[in-house]
Amino acid sequence: MERHVPARYTLEGVSDAEVSVHPFATEDGLGLNLTRFRRGDCDDVVLLLHGLTASIDMFIMPEHRNLVSVLLDNGFTDVWALDFRMSSRLPYDAETHRYTLDDIAAWDHPAALREIRRHVGDRRVHVVAHCLGSMSFSMSLFGGALDGVTSFVSNSVSLTPRVPAWSRCKLVAGPGLSEYVLGLSFMDSRFGEAPPLTRGWMVSRLVSLFHRECDVRDCHMISFMWGSGRPALYEHDNLLPVTHQRIADLLGPTGVHYFRHIRKMVSAGQVVKYDPGDPRHADLPEAYLSRASEVTTPVLLLSGDVNRVFPGANAACHEALERARPGLQEFASLPGYGHIDPFIGENAHVDVFPKILDFLKRQAS
Ligand SMILES: [Zn+2]
Repeated sequence: MERHVPARYTLEGVSDAEVSVHPFATEDGLGLNLTRFRRGDCDDVVLLLHGLTASIDMFIMPEHRNLVSVLLDNGFTDVWALDFRMSSRLPYDAETHRYTLDDIAAWDHPAALREIRRHVGDRRVHVVAHCLGSMSFSMSLFGGALDGVTSFVSNSVSLTPRVPAWSRCKLVAGPGLSEYVLGLSFMDSRFGEAPPLTRGWMVSRLVSLFHRECDVRDCHMISFMWGSGRPALYEHDNLLPVTHQRIADLLGPTGVHYFRHIRKMVSAGQVVKYDPGDPRHADLPEAYLSRASEVTTPVLLLSGDVNRVFPGANAACHEALERARPGLQEFASLPGYGHIDPFIGENAHVDVFPKILDFLKRQAS
């Protein structure tokens, strides 16, 4: 089939950099990948973390001026991007599984940082993270699973998830309906391409009945899977047409079990452990904010002001962290932006990336 969009998993969006891939294993036996984009040694290394079923692709898109290129061009010449177990570049989230965000906090991010340290030694490491990459990294950082991070930039959600009423309904009913009634352990943004009358096809057609805002079925499924709105994850006007057309390349299938953990956290109003009795995570706190005063890493919390996935979550996190450790965090609202367009939007390099750069430069000095 002829495609008028960039090849999947392309690295063409980053030029003039030495690219290397660094596989490593987690303690529970998953193989993950770090991809390094390097123009030279740098005292300030940056690590980028994607959200649920996104991947490093959201930072290296060739169709716009992407975050990795902007960092490399502005003096951060050693940039790493992690594909962890939620990545659409890896098979894990399209398999039947029972992973939780505690697993990621305990095993994925600490192992990734150990691998980076093997190469960069004790140079400063800054982390920029999106969505559940941000939430799970916040859990690692504030839960004491790692240390030595110089600064942290979080987009959309960190330690205090807030979701719209319709998302709350989906979190309550969705995982059970999907697994026990439909027999589907994951939802696929490409269900629109399933053979007629199969379960995936019917889910896609039903979802599209309620989404008349555009003619891309993958876009409808993505709205259904992750938020409340038409569309839910971004403003259409903020995306280039090619990005909208290939949105399923950037946001793939997702297992429904993670939503049970999110549901528990939304009910608690803050990030909590999924199973407090799980001996594998005995070192992690039951409520991740409980140790916040012990962590001195500066944090920049970002959120689009039309965020329809986690509206108000990072503003609430700013308030909560200010109470625990005054003066160590900043909050920046992104006018006209939603949940993920702060990274994949056509003009993110004009409207958003300068705020990230400004913060990183201040922490670097
Ligand atoms: Zn759309």
